[in-house]
Amino acid sequence: MDPHTENLLKELYRDFQTILETTTDFIYFKDKDSRIRFCSQTLARICGFQHWREMIGKHDFEIFPPDTAKIYYEEELPVFQEGKPLINKVDPYYDAEGARRWVNTNKWPVFGEDGKTVIGIFGISRDITDQKAAEEIREELLKQKILAETNQERATLLENMIDGFVLAKLIYDDRAHPIDFSVIDANASFCEMIGVQDPTGKKGSELANIADHPATELIIKFGRIASGSPAERFEVEIPSLNTWFSVAAFSQRSGQLAALFTDISARKQLLLGLSKEKAAAENTSRLKSRFLDIAAHELRTPVTAFSLLLQITEKQLQKGIPVESETIARLRRQTDRLSSLVIDLLDVSRLERGLTLKKQFGDIVPLISECLDIFRLQAPSRSMTFHHPGHAVEANFDRERVFQVLSNIIDNAIKYTPSGSRIDIELEEATDRIRVLIKDRGPGISQSKLHAVFGAFERGSTDTEERAGGLGLGLFICKRIMELHGGKIGVTSQAGSGSTFYFDLPRNGPTP
Ligand code: ADP
Repeated sequence: MDPHTENLLKELYRDFQTILETTTDFIYFKDKDSRIRFCSQTLARICGFQHWREMIGKHDFEIFPPDTAKIYYEEELPVFQEGKPLINKVDPYYDAEGARRWVNTNKWPVFGEDGKTVIGIFGISRDITDQKAAEEIREELLKQKILAETNQERATLLENMIDGFVLAKLIYDDRAHPIDFSVIDANASFCEMIGVQDPTGKKGSELANIADHPATELIIKFGRIASGSPAERFEVEIPSLNTWFSVAAFSQRSGQLAALFTDISARKQLLLGLSKEKAAAENTSRLKSRFLDIAAHELRTPVTAFSLLLQITEKQLQKGIPVESETIARLRRQTDRLSSLVIDLLDVSRLERGLTLKKQFGDIVPLISECLDIFRLQAPSRSMTFHHPGHAVEANFDRERVFQVLSNIIDNAIKYTPSGSRIDIELEEATDRIRVLIKDRGPGISQSKLHAVFGAFERGSTDTEERAGGLGLGLFICKRIMELHGGKIGVTSQAGSGSTFYFDLPRNGPTP
């Protein structure tokens, strides 16, 4: 070797040694048997050697603890077998003090002269412990941030939910029976539902009487769930709030529970309405069959009487006997009775089908006077007095129908009271309504029958009442007409001292 080349080689070797001795990276070269041919001083030091030369010829399993040696050995297999470099692998290692640290490792295959056979591995690993720790801290911070955001989102979700949310702690008596609960937390909807601004710390019994009785259904269910029973969904009515709730409750820790309250009053009311409608429909159908029975029975009497009278009259005429005016009067009475029965029946059926009122805002005084004039003609002997207020008394009403109501009541007052007794009609005015009163001095109506007189087919059974005929529909019709007006009908009476029938009409201005 010429001296120039020798010098060059010496220089190169010195440089090589300098690199190995000064670098802080772990640099190493392993032969085909995975034995160290050279390595950096840093690597030798963490392996407990004074000088890197002491590492030459050593295998990983002789210098590293078994757990890390295994990792290094296995990761080198593909490099040896397939000639594939290993890039950016993060590996653990133990420093000279035995502390676990981390390196980023790159290992490349070194090929023989044929360019194919792997004859060794050249590797560089750099300590990344501090970087990794910083990354872990960053990741941890990120996780915490995400968690905080999720918690915040959950809190916002709970707060803005339409359903009421409440977290509660059960309160027990000496015998460990649940008697109440106290609110730990609640969302805005719950506060709104119970009408309390901040229910935190308050007892159920203080909150709109949610637990107004120790044995309330809600407390029993809450108690059961808070003591470990599975989550439950149930419906409960809180009467003091006039509300039905669907409650989904579950316990996340013994003695506590979380519950979601959904207001289902509208659905409940709908169901209630439907069952009421069903009952009303059944009632109507019952009424109809009763109606038919009674109508057929009642109509038969005047029809039979009428037909008998006609037969008699016919025979008399055949014999040349003139028809007496009394017979004509009897025929007329039966016809009147028949037509009044038919009119009542028609009215009921019209009302049942839904009658539309023709309401007008106007003075009721002329209507009362006109009605009385007609009755005075029919029953001239009766003393009927209208205590005229002297000015217009206005209300919103259907003239024809109110005339019918008034006629029916006056007609009854004439029918059911002795012929000498007086009838007085009075008017009372209030801001929102007017009241028409019809007072008689007849036998009156007993307290037990007082309310029943407005029912369908309700009739008295005294002689006078029997004689008066009728289906017991008149006052029933009057009541329905008043209901359609948004008004009211009633009677006050004491047996033996006359009856006062009255009806109220709303004054609420002219209908547009
Ligand atoms: P009807 O006159 O066809 O029987 P109503 O419905 O008009 O039917 O009256 C029902 C019942 O109320 C009557 O049968 C009678 O027993 C009672 N009643 C009504 N008005 C009076 C009154 N002024 N005095 C006593 N009883 C009355």
